[in-house]
Amino acid sequence: MIGAGGVGTSIAFTALTRGVAQRISLYDVDSGKVRAEVLDLRHGLEFVRPAVIDGSDDIAVCAGADVVVLTAGAKQKTGESRLDLATRNARILHALLPRLTEVAPDAVILLVTNPVDVLTHLAIRITGKDDGTVLGSGTVLDSSRLRHLLASIYGVAERHVHAHVVGEHGDSETVLWSTARIGGVPLDLVPTRKGGILDQSDRDRIADQVRNAAYEIIAGKGATTWAISLATTQILGALDQTTNASVLPVSATIHPELGLGPWCVSLPRLVDRGGAGTILPLTVSDSELEAIQASSAEVRRNFEALSA
Ligand code: NAD
Repeated sequence: MIGAGGVGTSIAFTALTRGVAQRISLYDVDSGKVRAEVLDLRHGLEFVRPAVIDGSDDIAVCAGADVVVLTAGAKQKTGESRLDLATRNARILHALLPRLTEVAPDAVILLVTNPVDVLTHLAIRITGKDDGTVLGSGTVLDSSRLRHLLASIYGVAERHVHAHVVGEHGDSETVLWSTARIGGVPLDLVPTRKGGILDQSDRDRIADQVRNAAYEIIAGKGATTWAISLATTQILGALDQTTNASVLPVSATIHPELGLGPWCVSLPRLVDRGGAGTILPLTVSDSELEAIQASSAEVRRNFEALSA
């Protein structure tokens, strides 16, 4: 775990309590903080599946890792867009990744640091690994925010809602309403808990709520931690699978044949031990495809602004 701040330590805690990792190594430039976090996590080892926790301000602590989660960096300030963070966090990646790939050459690298799509693209460029083994948490979190809202609107458990947020993890993301289902049934056919079918203005309101959720949480508690740690742990679980892959909207290169590449945005794709794999066939409406293309163009613009 690179970065032992709010997000890094809550992912470590969640991975530990869900038994997803047998060994967790924290790396952070703040040596006092990393030592304290390691002790605090170790003191709970009696209560979880057997695991080893260590940590250091030396990146060598990541040696031999199967997966490295990158959470180091500045976080959004109130009112700051994710893309404003790009330059600061890009500098960190330029310094970190060459050293990381030296000590953990075979690790899958999962980026969480924002702006996650731009930085995933940058990480692929720096490491030269464009085979799905460098990926970003993308819109897995945004999709779980959407599923939660729909679950409460329809009065069903979240696991019976299938709906994806795709594109950039950020202001240009889009909801794939055309493929959203409640228990396998299209939304146009399912009445909400209050009765009636979701119309376009309801859908726009829900999409806005999902898009602005992070801003609301940051205004109230300074950072988002719990849901991103559960979402990231879900991805870590998928990255451990060798047989049946998970379908998750992670951020990874979209190859040019979809008219979206080579920029990193999220689309539902297979995720397993090999990293981000095949993108499922896109059955989206024309307006949804246009929105994904606009999102991909936004990531491209921001990446190019960064490199300028
Ligand atoms: P934080 O400030 O609490 O922690 C960041 C940590 O990174 C600090 O402990 C700091 O010492 C460390 N750090 C800084 N530079 C470093 C370096 N060069 N090497 C190693 N460690 C370094 O921030 P946070 O709340 O944990 O957020 C971390 C990142 O995660 C932010 O960019 C935030 O925007 C992002 N985030 C992403 C999502 C998502 O869905 N992708 C969700 C929440 C947060």
